[in-house]
Amino acid sequence: MRPEGDAEDTMKAKILIVEDEPAITDNIQYALETEGFETVCLASGSPVLPFMARSQADLIILDIGLPDVSGLELCKEIRKKFSTPIIFLTARIEEVDRIVGLEVGGDDYVTKPFSPRELAARVKAVLRRTRPSGGSSCAPNGVFHVNESKRQITYQGKILDLSRYEYEILRTFIRRPGHVYSREQLMDLVWEEPEASLDRTVDAHIKNIRSKLRAIEPDRDPIVTHRGAGYSLREDL
Ligand code: CA
Repeated sequence: MRPEGDAEDTMKAKILIVEDEPAITDNIQYALETEGFETVCLASGSPVLPFMARSQADLIILDIGLPDVSGLELCKEIRKKFSTPIIFLTARIEEVDRIVGLEVGGDDYVTKPFSPRELAARVKAVLRRTRPSGGSSCAPNGVFHVNESKRQITYQGKILDLSRYEYEILRTFIRRPGHVYSREQLMDLVWEEPEASLDRTVDAHIKNIRSKLRAIEPDRDPIVTHRGAGYSLREDL
């Protein structure tokens, strides 16, 4: 029998749950499977990268307090290779700033104790935001469209001719409009070997991206410079 209703709409996304407390894992798994998601559970951090290399996931739910590694450190490692959205589970409200901002690169978080239904709703919202259909993603305003498989970004319906680093930087911005990224974060996010690329400054790449955007729409600058802090993509495009 085919499931009815909105279970079909979740496209059977595969969710990787990384959590060491079996009771919490069971609750999450039940809530997500009820919503039509496929789930895979890991009880520690070390198998996560091998799993991702082998089989990928559409979204990761990542506990911060894992027995073998901090979820925050693991997220940084995941981010070096994968852009998979990550929702953190945390018992400590004071960790929240680090999680969604700054150096870690998480997409959302819930604090324990949480309702599994609320978490399922967050999962849907993050998936909608990061990959609404066909493996591509777009900013909420629809001005930008990212095609991950072709590594192409479209602006106002026109394909941008971007270098590899320009693509990585702009894609990072589009994933989180309004979020301010420092130069160091952009280096870490997009460069595989930051030390090897120090001469190729982030500023130079931003300048190139801006001029390519301006060539399409001269009167609009979607990238905001935050003096002393970094860069972000405008939220109100
Ligand atoms: Ca834990």
